[in-house]
Amino acid sequence: MQKLEAGIHTFQATYFASNRRLFEQLAEKGQRPETLFITCCDSRVVPHLITTAAPGELFIIRNVGNIVPAVDHGILGGVSAAIEYAVEVLGVSDIVVCGHTNCGAIDAILHPERVEHLPLVSRWLGESSRIPKLIEERYGHLDGEARMTAAIEENVLIQLENLRSFDFVARRLDAGTLEISGWVFKIATGEVYDYDPVSGQFVQLAGEGERQTLSSRPPPVSESR
Ligand SMILES: [Zn+2]
Repeated sequence: MQKLEAGIHTFQATYFASNRRLFEQLAEKGQRPETLFITCCDSRVVPHLITTAAPGELFIIRNVGNIVPAVDHGILGGVSAAIEYAVEVLGVSDIVVCGHTNCGAIDAILHPERVEHLPLVSRWLGESSRIPKLIEERYGHLDGEARMTAAIEENVLIQLENLRSFDFVARRLDAGTLEISGWVFKIATGEVYDYDPVSGQFVQLAGEGERQTLSSRPPPVSESR
């Protein structure tokens, strides 16, 4: 706690002191974020840091496993309420679902027995319970880290599908006034990979030289992604 208090002091004396006008304007005029950023609770994923975003720019939803429960079978609650508010009231133009490497939630999705003693976590991760079968079918040849990466990627793609299950999201996508992106943040290197529906690969954002991919995914299957 003392560390947090010292941190608040540093924030007020440095960042806030140099950006006082920005905070005053945000307080007076309200927020107009352009991006709804959905990511994991993991403490190693810091949205403002990895995107160099300023206060007021990212509307953030965090939960275990960066999951978006689908409207028809999901656990409707805080996540869906925040999506509705971001799209219908704030009018965001982008939604980013950002998974990450070394994700404990994905490990638990692949090995549900490891979280059997955690009924709430198990129920929540049940939203992505189709992943183990999908990984077995499409990535049976992979093991270890490669298998984990495939599951991290597939989990992000499932959430993009689930986003489309909200009628107000689907309408804005059809109208061309909203874009949704699937990202993976690689903790050990600081790199961010963005799903490219054409190639079916997660391609490095802001990389130099030849565009690297996070993994070597099988060609896209004929489904609406
Ligand atoms: Zn995570």
